[in-house]
Amino acid sequence: MASVAQEMTLIGLSDGELDTKRYQSSYLTNKVGGQPDWLPGISPLPPRCSRCSAPLAHVVQVYCPLEASPYHRNLHLFACLAAECSGRSECWTVLRSQRLETEVAAAQTSTRHIPTQDAPLLATDWCDTADDWGEDGDGGWEGGVKEEIQVQEEVAAPEAEVSEMVVSSHLHDLSLIGSQDIPIFRPYFISVVEEADLFGEEEDLDHAQQLLREYERREGVAVGELEGSGGGGEEKYEKTRAKHGDAVFSRFMKKISLCPQQILRYCHSGRPLFISEPPSNMAQLVSACGYCGGSRTFELQLMPALVSLLQRKDYGEKVELEFGTVLVYTCTNSCWKSSSDSAVEEFCFVQTDPDQQLFK
Ligand SMILES: [Zn+2]
Ligand SMILES: [Zn+2]
Repeated sequence: MASVAQEMTLIGLSDGELDTKRYQSSYLTNKVGGQPDWLPGISPLPPRCSRCSAPLAHVVQVYCPLEASPYHRNLHLFACLAAECSGRSECWTVLRSQRLETEVAAAQTSTRHIPTQDAPLLATDWCDTADDWGEDGDGGWEGGVKEEIQVQEEVAAPEAEVSEMVVSSHLHDLSLIGSQDIPIFRPYFISVVEEADLFGEEEDLDHAQQLLREYERREGVAVGELEGSGGGGEEKYEKTRAKHGDAVFSRFMKKISLCPQQILRYCHSGRPLFISEPPSNMAQLVSACGYCGGSRTFELQLMPALVSLLQRKDYGEKVELEFGTVLVYTCTNSCWKSSSDSAVEEFCFVQTDPDQQLFK
């Protein structure tokens, strides 16, 4: 076996529905759907589809401060739900926002603290190297908490009323859409585990194998056997690859077989896991940062198991959002003007599922 890469991949798993009546999420929360929780001082601008102009639905919020950085940091992913926009990279938007920890602390002087034990789950730091994330499923975990969850005061405080007015007029002026026009997905907590921690556990190769057989049956192709950690696998794998040209997909399946229910993979400056052959000019496709002109690096990707979690909160109708994986590349320098109140746009690349039925 080749030596295991040292880059640490974190895996996001769905951890139950986020009951907004019982739990107030904040920018520290990792979650699917719901409304984005912006960092204090960041203008909540709802993005629109660059293709059809429809307001985009919020898909995922990740709290991901970089190691040794003085900034709080969020990534928010949005997607257009129009059927004709499905699977197109330009119909997704990823926004990065940052705020100095000291600024946020100053802005939160009028907030009250909630005892941490009341919160079913707390924010996790994607760059934390603590070993004990996700150990405790329902009581939160120790070591991964950046700081105590804080909840904005109810509108009783005069300054809160003012800022709410400012925000709503801002929204109205800039986008002319009411919040009822923005589709909202049912919110779920995301819990985080280290992929490396899964290696000791029983591999779910049977499940992956089953998925592959399903795929082969439907597509009329033979992808080949998935190999466990036993010897001799690589050679056979290579032959299969040459024969069927489906190696990228096979590798994808093998990689996620440890934990097929993963909805997100996070590895800042790591390598993405493509679901199908990336374009040969992929490096050129990933545009430079529009703010500092520097390069972008891979940071996270959404995984196929997320698709079935994305249910509209407002209607019972079927969601049209389909993807195989959504790759997110962000400014390598994570550039930020400290006076800025606007999130910056980063780069998304969507790969469609080779078989839309496979992960359902
Ligand atoms: Zn659209
Ligand atoms: Zn930049």
